[in-house]
Amino acid sequence: MSSCNAGWSLSAAVLFALSLCLGILLLSRWVAKQRAFPGRAGFALLHLAALWWLLTAAAEMSAQAADCKMFWAAMAWPGIVATPTFWALFLWQYVNSQSATLRPRNLLLLCLMPLLAWLLALSNPWHGLFYLPGSAPISAEWGAPVHYEHGPLFFAVSVYVYLSMLFSVGTVLNAAYLSRGRHRRHYLAFAAVTLVPFIAHIAYVHYNWTVFGFDPTPLSFVFVLIAFVVLIFGGRVFDLLPVARHLLLEALSDPVLVINQRQEVIEANPAALQLAALAKDWQGCRLADWPVYGMPLAGVLLRAAADKLPPLLELTHPQRFFEVHRRQIERPARKGKFVLGEMLYLRDVTQPHLSEMRLAEALALSDERLKIISALNDKLRDQVLHDPLTGLFNRRYLAEFFTREQARARREHAGLVLVLIDLDHFKGVNDTYGHLVGDEMLKAVSRFFETKLRSTDAVFRFGGEEFLLLLTGVTAHEAFALVEGLREHFALTPMLTTAGDLNIQFSAGLASWPMHGDTLDDLIRAADSALYQAKREGRNRVRLAGSAS
Ligand code: GH3
Ligand code: MG
Ligand code: MG
Repeated sequence: MSSCNAGWSLSAAVLFALSLCLGILLLSRWVAKQRAFPGRAGFALLHLAALWWLLTAAAEMSAQAADCKMFWAAMAWPGIVATPTFWALFLWQYVNSQSATLRPRNLLLLCLMPLLAWLLALSNPWHGLFYLPGSAPISAEWGAPVHYEHGPLFFAVSVYVYLSMLFSVGTVLNAAYLSRGRHRRHYLAFAAVTLVPFIAHIAYVHYNWTVFGFDPTPLSFVFVLIAFVVLIFGGRVFDLLPVARHLLLEALSDPVLVINQRQEVIEANPAALQLAALAKDWQGCRLADWPVYGMPLAGVLLRAAADKLPPLLELTHPQRFFEVHRRQIERPARKGKFVLGEMLYLRDVTQPHLSEMRLAEALALSDERLKIISALNDKLRDQVLHDPLTGLFNRRYLAEFFTREQARARREHAGLVLVLIDLDHFKGVNDTYGHLVGDEMLKAVSRFFETKLRSTDAVFRFGGEEFLLLLTGVTAHEAFALVEGLREHFALTPMLTTAGDLNIQFSAGLASWPMHGDTLDDLIRAADSALYQAKREGRNRVRLAGSAS
């Protein structure tokens, strides 16, 4: 490399470039003091690369000898190639919310191409494939800028630079495509800014467009850096919502909201907007002012601060139920944590909740129905087995009762006697006092039998004015004596009716099991003939089956 002591000039252009260097230094110092943001590592490296490029550009402008200028032009290459490399790195980290520090191995990989370009440019005097031998000052004037004729190695490196830039533009455009509203505008601005040095570089390489006779690309980077700083620090929303998570929210069918500490909605996924029937101008709105569910949700948040279970948000129009899950969004601060806001996840439990409610309703209803049915059943059974006029058991129940008592008698070797009773001349009562009084008489007779019989015995209304007694645990003769006593007592007991106290008598026929038959029918038949005998013999008497008069 030839010596560069042939003179330096401090032109206005050089001063301008140096002052930009100073500007970048101040800017990077300021950025370093600011809060962390995704891609900060890439952004810091980008400053370094741009600074290198600008410094070498200033040196090239300042140097007067042509070979000296070419030396500084070669020196610029690590900066030239590193700038788009770190730019791509920064944008990728930024849109993917990568805050992790860069591994040394990865950093080395990213530096490979800038170092290679540097090596190729510096070794140009030996191979002449980076700048062609035709590269020379544009005029014979001392310190005139050099016009470079680019060789194949230059274009090879350029391909890498263009690919890096395309990657950068693609990354932000893709992020813009996947986002909406404020996020999309933010990314589109990034993409627009990214294009500026791209255009400057193309203009310089292919159209020889220069500023002060030099490559305008490093200058355009100063603009880019400032624009990025404004974009990053102007849009604080990115603190709250890293983009990768943003994409996840888009796909969720449950509403998700992000609110800041002032309870203003910073982010809402499509499901949240759809539920509120909102399309635009919602960002920054207070949660309580949101249509449909803002007010009740704010109420739920206020009430449920101490609850362990997720509280339920209930909406009537439309009828929906949501479990409200809350998660604080914090970032580490020097002293503990700094709460940025809160994420609200509304889990739609409408279907299970409604099914649960319907099931509970159905269960309550069927329970109620079951009660009614069993009550009706009891009533019906009562009606079926009882005689409506007297309330006594009817003939339907007789068969069931007899079967049970017969089994018991068999088990206990006890007696069982069937007594058939017929009121004497009952027709006369009807004829004399009327049918209603006859009915009253039948009721009174029933009460008489009920009260006079033992609890183990049973009385049935067998027909119009006929009754059947089933006496358990007695022999035929005991039963006879019992019924005889009953008859005497009956004949002397006046029956209370509206027509006054009326006396009446009965005749009875007895049949004893198993003496007079084994089946109910046999016993009834035997008792009936004994009753007939009692009637024939003059009424008001008791006769045992099979006994001759
Ligand atoms: P006997 O001594 O021969 O048994 O004479 P009786 O009049 O009692 O016998 P009969 O069979 O001739 O008449 C029975 C009467 O009982 C006829 C019927 O009107 C009356 N009777 C039957 N069931 C009822 C009823 O539910 N209410 C009333 N008031 N009368 C009834
Ligand atoms: Mg009769
Ligand atoms: Mg009669």
